[in-house]
This record gives sequence, structure tokens and C-alpha cells, in this order.
Amino acid sequence: MRHITIHWFRKGLRLHDNPALLAALQGCTEIYPVFVLDPGVPNQAHASINCWRFLIGALEDLDCSLKKLNSRLLVLRGKPEEVFPRLFQRWKVTRLTFEVDTEPYSQHRDEKVVKLAKQHNVEVIQKVSHTLYDTERIIAKNNGKPPLTFNRLQAVVQSLGAPEKPVPPPMLEDMKGVRTPCSEKDEESYKVPTLEELGLDPLSAGPELYPGGEQEALRRLDEHMKRTGWVCHFQKPETSPNALSPSTTVLSPYVRYGCLSARTFWWRLTDVYQGRKHSQPPVSLHGQLLWREFFYTTSVGIPNFNRMEGNPVCLQVDWDRNPEHLAAWREARTGFPFIDAIMTQLRQEGWIHHLARHAVACFLTRGDLWISWEEGQKVFEELLLDGDWALNAGNWQWLSASAFFHQYYRVYSPIAFGKKTDKSGEYIKKYLPILKKFPAEYIYEPWKAPRSVQERAGCIVGKDYPRPIVDHEVVSKKNMQRMKMAYSKRSETFNESNGKAKGEKRKAASVVDMLMKKKVKVN
Ligand code: FAD
Repeated sequence: MRHITIHWFRKGLRLHDNPALLAALQGCTEIYPVFVLDPGVPNQAHASINCWRFLIGALEDLDCSLKKLNSRLLVLRGKPEEVFPRLFQRWKVTRLTFEVDTEPYSQHRDEKVVKLAKQHNVEVIQKVSHTLYDTERIIAKNNGKPPLTFNRLQAVVQSLGAPEKPVPPPMLEDMKGVRTPCSEKDEESYKVPTLEELGLDPLSAGPELYPGGEQEALRRLDEHMKRTGWVCHFQKPETSPNALSPSTTVLSPYVRYGCLSARTFWWRLTDVYQGRKHSQPPVSLHGQLLWREFFYTTSVGIPNFNRMEGNPVCLQVDWDRNPEHLAAWREARTGFPFIDAIMTQLRQEGWIHHLARHAVACFLTRGDLWISWEEGQKVFEELLLDGDWALNAGNWQWLSASAFFHQYYRVYSPIAFGKKTDKSGEYIKKYLPILKKFPAEYIYEPWKAPRSVQERAGCIVGKDYPRPIVDHEVVSKKNMQRMKMAYSKRSETFNESNGKAKGEKRKAASVVDMLMKKKVKVN
């Protein structure tokens, strides 16, 4: 049978390592590569202008690459479950192909679309290529449960063998006899949108440091892979949160939208490692991709992964509601220059270093402000170019010591932490120019500077730059006690539901136990 196929790009905005796209071209006479601008996608609804610009760049790049194959990208507008049935009929579609997406919204959407496709006699082909492995396979191999520690994940994936090799991109010869019919009217209706069309003012965007698209992703990957010594010695904890130019790859936005395939990234690293001494997971670059796999797998296997309530591995904490403090954190006016500089970089550039994320996430939650990690997750989702449902939720749970990481007594100081890698506060001066004339001695704590120093620096604390909104020494100690209580309450809940008497000797409740006991009481 000769097929008329729609290939639906969602994530996976690339031609390389795209098995669903290759399947689309098998026995195909007409192909319609589409992207649906779906108003329902949760993380797009609130995305910042920087994120939209990245996505538009990625779509333009994809359109350009498809045109080189005598095809093009058609950007549809509307809800997929309404758009597709019309097009199935109009284009006489026989087959629909797409990459598996494990986010709950996408799963729900895809179920509806698959059902509609069946009703229209359209064959559906779905392929896994957003992660290194099929997360369902990892879970099955781990007796039906997601591995809840990195070591466990590593052991399971080792037993599965290396990730599959990436598949090659389609070439002109694969397109022989394949057309993408497109009328003049369609040309106009299905164009890649502009920021203006989306009601956004391009002038309000930050500097475009990380342009979207597969070509840019592969160029950046090539550049990094040429630095063989750097790749082989890469140790994540040794990289700096406040370097003036990024100390890690910043490939995350490209991996998030699938402009770069994780498997391509993995295998390029393997090539660099070949025959050379190199760092190992969890701190190596392979290790970073395994962290991604870890959080993807847990997000698939744990219900309500992006929430505290109803999430069986998440510590139940009596977080405060404090809109003023939340706004101060979000808008970079906490009065702690290191925190405010990071939040400024995030808003302006859409990317911050992993340890910078640690610092601001700890500050918002268990460190200082005692505000729920779910609030921080929302702000990151809006502002991060790499904002990813699974990775954002998983890492926020980690940093707030709500799940996966439990050493709540290890708190980042908003003053001392940044000094380790940037004594003179060059990073702070870059993102908070109001403080640039402060001497190094006071740059992390400008409120301690004598009035004369503040005057000479042209910045009076309390007038030109805020006073600290909390006393870190005091609140961090108080919060540690609150954390201790939340942990002991969890142990009690666990004991009660296990029928153990008070004072009876017991093993600490592990997250595995918690997950196994499906119904954990919510405080
Ligand atoms: P590199 O160090 O160069 O790592 C290479 C790749 O490995 C990254 O591109 C990314 O795909 C993956 N990776 C690295 N670290 C992690 C990690 N801890 N967890 C999962 N994958 C990782 N990352 C996102 O991609 N999206 C998010 O929404 C996100 N939210 C986060 C929220 C918090 C509170 C924290 C602490 C971390 C979050 N991270 C998130 C993880 C991590 O900070 C970023 O992936 C990393 O900083 C991206 O920079 P890079 O590409 O230079 O990383």
C-alpha cells in the first residue's frame, strides 16, 4: 500500500535520530510534516518570550531542513484532537507517525488522537527516541517500579546494555517519489508563527545567546566534542555556578525540544571517551544524561510527580504561603546579591548553571523562605529555555529534600556559596550593575557596608538595592527544625500504616517503602 502520512513533530524537532520520521517515509507517496500550536500545552501556555523565540527558531530551522528535502513544515493552529480529524479527511491520510512523549498532558492528548485516527482508519506508528532507553523497559526490568536512586538506575541500565545507536537523518534519496502537496493558501495558513503573531513584543526579549534549532544544536555539540580533554575530565561538581560564560555545555534547551537527540549526545561522548581515560557517572557527561534518564523514568512511574499532594515519594511539608517573599525571589529583589544575580540571569537569558539552580531552589524552599517547591517549579517552567516537565519536577523535589535527597541539614548559604568560585563577585556585578562599585569585601553582603562605602559605591541599601528579606542565620536554623519535624511525621505515618507501636525499633522509612505503600496519608 502507498501511504499518505502525517508526521507530527512535537518535541523531537530534528531530522537526525528520528525513527518515527523514517517510519513515516516508508512506502510513502505524500508526507505532511506538521507541528501543532496547541493552546492547551501546559508549559507553553505560560512560557516566556525567550522560550517562544527558541521554539520559533527551532521550527524555522526544521522548515528549512525539510525544504532541502523538497518538503516543508506545516504549522497547524488549534487543539490536535480537533485539527487532525479534519486533515485526515482532507488529505486522505492513511498513516500518522510521532515520537512517544511521556508527559501526562501529552499521554492524555495522544490517547485521544490515536482513538480518532483509528476511527478514520489511520494507522499510527509511535517510536521512542526522546530518552536513551524506553523508560517502560527500565521500569519493567526493575520489577515494575521506577529505580529511586541513581545507583539503582545505573545498575538497571547496565543490564540493558548501551543505549540504541541513533538512526541517520532522511536523505534526498529517501524522498524519491514522496511529495508534500501545499497550495498557495496553505503556504500562508501553515507558516511558522512570528513573535508578533503570538502577541509578543520582540524588543522585550533578552539577548539571544542560545538560538533554537537542530543545526545550532549539532554545531554546539561538535564544538564541545572537539574539546576532548574537557569532555574527558568533566566533573559536574567542579564546574562553576557563577562563571561569566557557561561552564557546562548548555545543550539542555536543545535536548529539551529534541533539537538534539540524547542518544546522539551519548554516542558522540562515547566516541570521545574511546581509548582515553575519562570521568565516570554520576559526575561525567554520560552521568548527566543518566540523571536525565533517572528523572524521566521516575516521572513515568510515580503518580502526581509534579505535585506534593498525592505524590507517594514526596515529603509532605507545611510550606508557608508568602506572596511577597515569592515575588521578591521571582523578581530578583531578595537583597541577597548572589540569589538576585542568578534570578536576573534566568529572566534575561533563560539558562542558569545547575549549581545556581541549587542555590536559588534551596533558598526558596527549605533554606530560607519556606515556600513550596511547586511555586519555584512554576517560575522555572516559565523562564527556563530547557524547562522540562520531568526534570524540573524531579530536581525541585531533590533540592527541597522532598524526595531522592534527604540531607536537609545541608543548606546552601546565599552568601558563602558563591564566594567559593567568584571571590570578587564579578558575576554579581555583571547581572546587578547597581552593585558594581562595591568592594569585594561587601559585594555578597552589601547591607554590612558602612554608609560611606555605600555612598562611594553609589548604591544605598534600602533605597537603591533592597535590604535582605530574611536573616539567613536565623531562618535557616528554624527551617531545619521544621524539616526535621516533617521527616519524623513521615516516619510516624509510615509506622502507623504498618501497625508499629511507638518507640518500637524500626528501619528508617525508605522512599521505596513509601512508593510500595500506595496509600500514604497526606498531611
Ligand atoms: P550539562 O552539565 O552540560 O549536562 C548535559 C545534559 O545532561 C544537559 O543538557 C541535560 O539534558 C542533562 N542534565 C544535566 N544535569 C541534569 C540533572 N540534574 N537532571 C536531569 N538532567 C540533567 N534541566 C532541564 O533540562 N530542564 C529543567 O527544567 C530543569 N530544571 C531544574 C530545576 C532545578 C531546581 C535544578 C536544581 C535543576 C534542574 N535541571 C533541569 C537540571 C540541570 O540543572 C540542567 O539540566 C543543566 O544545568 C543544564 O545545563 P547543561 O546543558 O549545561 O548541562
